[in-house]
Amino acid sequence: MDTAERDWLRALPKAELHLHLEGSLSPDTLWALARRHGQPFGLTSLDACRALYCFHDFPGFIHAIKTASQLLRDPADYAEAVAALAAYLHAQGVVYSEVFFSVGILLWRGVAIEPYWEAIEAARLAAEHATGVRLRWLLDAVRQFGSEPLQQIVDWAVRWQPGGAVIGIGIGGDESQRSAAEFAPAYARARAHGLHTTVHAGETAGPASLWDALRHLAPERIGHGLRAFEDEKLVDELAARGVALDVCPTSNLKTGVWPAAGAAPYPALGYRNRGLRLSVSSDDPGIFATTLLDEFAWLRAHGGFSATALAGLVSGSFACSFLPEADRTALALLPTPAPPDTRGDGGMAVE
Ligand SMILES: [Zn+2]
Repeated sequence: MDTAERDWLRALPKAELHLHLEGSLSPDTLWALARRHGQPFGLTSLDACRALYCFHDFPGFIHAIKTASQLLRDPADYAEAVAALAAYLHAQGVVYSEVFFSVGILLWRGVAIEPYWEAIEAARLAAEHATGVRLRWLLDAVRQFGSEPLQQIVDWAVRWQPGGAVIGIGIGGDESQRSAAEFAPAYARARAHGLHTTVHAGETAGPASLWDALRHLAPERIGHGLRAFEDEKLVDELAARGVALDVCPTSNLKTGVWPAAGAAPYPALGYRNRGLRLSVSSDDPGIFATTLLDEFAWLRAHGGFSATALAGLVSGSFACSFLPEADRTALALLPTPAPPDTRGDGGMAVE
């Protein structure tokens, strides 16, 4: 992607819908937190912090994000992370974002939840005022920890929902550990309270895990869905149900879940051509050393997307959000510049 195209993409108003607060910490921020908290977990230098983020498989990633999460020790640490994340989003031209806040990690740590909530909410309001980026929370559970913490997380979501900042719930983690069926009662309860639902699936496991999620959780959105392409009927089912997929290529590459076995191309363009609803995200930009613009650049260079097709992903991401219809429509109508025709293809290389 050349400079003109990147500048154009930056100027496009965007939504980023798959973003973990705990995974947004850069190595520099991690090092500052490590110094503040006595350099735990062997994080005795900036290089050690960088090394934590050098992994080649999903267990390595889980270790990194678990460690980074524990460096966010105090409510004030979370508040700083929110401010930094909003600045990142603003620099990427993002106007709206849904951010995972892992209450599951806090429950696992056994700390009182309320002070953390108050800190991130105050930080969210300040960040919205400073940057103009609208942020909403998805309260996140860790799949490996089982369904009981998710029930508590739904309680918190219901309690905090009236302010409008909590928009839904989700689960992430290792799909091989627990079946989606376990989480079905908590998802049903969340839905009954008007909360939106998403789930990480088809990331570390194949179509069976995605069918499992559809059957038991009926999510409106799925984090990744990377391996849906292995089952044609599954892709049709996702399209028929209108389930949106969060596309995060750098995450998939760095956690080692892509390339999957076989010589299949990255499936995002195929999904788009089959009528699936997609949005693009950086997932854990601090850990993966990526940005939302980098994700679009990767799809342009390696995913078969033309500039026009990227613009379609950008505008379509608002429709994938959990905002009320009127808000989605208003954001989708923000002025958007046309793509620069710098390659002589009129942006129509792949349609
Ligand atoms: Zn994720």
